[in-house]
Amino acid sequence: MKLIDLRSDTVTRPTPAMRAAMASADVGDDVYGEDPTVNRLESLTAEMLGTEAAVFASSGTQSNLLALLTHCQRGDEYIVGQQAHTYKFEGGGAAVLGSIQPQPLDFEQDGTLELSKVTQAIKPDNFHFARTRLLCLENTQAGKVLPLDYLQEAAVFAHKHRLKLHLDGARIFNAAVKLNVSLQEISRHFDSVSVCLSKGLGAPVGSLLCASREHIKAARRWRKVLGGGMRQAGIIAAAGIFALENNVARLAEDHANAALLAKGLAEIDELKVASASVQTNMVFVSVGKTAAAQLPDYLKQRGIVIRGGQTIRLVTHLEVREEDISIVIGAIKEFFSRSRV
Ligand SMILES: *Cc1c(COP(=O)(O)O)cnc(C)c1O
Repeated sequence: MKLIDLRSDTVTRPTPAMRAAMASADVGDDVYGEDPTVNRLESLTAEMLGTEAAVFASSGTQSNLLALLTHCQRGDEYIVGQQAHTYKFEGGGAAVLGSIQPQPLDFEQDGTLELSKVTQAIKPDNFHFARTRLLCLENTQAGKVLPLDYLQEAAVFAHKHRLKLHLDGARIFNAAVKLNVSLQEISRHFDSVSVCLSKGLGAPVGSLLCASREHIKAARRWRKVLGGGMRQAGIIAAAGIFALENNVARLAEDHANAALLAKGLAEIDELKVASASVQTNMVFVSVGKTAAAQLPDYLKQRGIVIRGGQTIRLVTHLEVREEDISIVIGAIKEFFSRSRV
């Protein structure tokens, strides 16, 4: 039975066409800078984002960490969202490996960090405090697209306060497709941007950090330190190139499917859909405690995989087709109509 897996857009598997691109990739030793496919992926991504350079990393976690280690020294501080991936979901890497102190702040409803609150968190230049060096944003943030005006304001703000500005752009492609703008309209405001190939773009592995030539040169040293220097990595870089060339525009289908899913689920009284956050490929729904405990198993038996909990994140991606959405809505409606009798 084909599973409809809505837990994350990371569950996508390489298609036969992507695998063919991987199988026929030209490779060399990337630690010597000699893998032509990795080199092509790096220059293609840098070109798409409008940065001087890019470096291929094994994961988004590593790519974000490269940026943090490059922007900040021991005893420096970065300001970041309380729920940000970089802060909350990366094992505290900046602190563990970089002696970089995080200063988390709550995200606003729209996924931004309120700049007046950021101002208050910036430490004065005084030996009692860590040195605030970096502001880190996330786009999309829980499926929400940061407004372009806000990015402009954040860039001016960072410059004024002498902070570097990093974007965790794991899903920057979703943001650009949603806004119908080039990636550069987003990336141009930042000193560094991390992008993931292994989310909605459907590649099996890989992220890139994009920034100035100088920043990337330093990041390459950190990548080696972290054990991230890979050899014939062209095998996986080829999947990344395939993803960038074929799977960006189609993210609009994932967004349409998420909207369809949200609309169908909104008809169910027992569910509360966070409709304001349905902007790209994610739908957040809240359910009661009893339903939360039973729903995942009920759906599993019908070939639908979701995460547990009372706030459920449902994510659409390239293995979820439009027909699947009505199957999911139907199964969830059935679950609640059964428990009503
Ligand atoms: C997935 C993700 C990352 C990187 O995760 P990896 O699993 O390490 O590739 C970074 N930021 C956000 C917002 C993510 O969703």
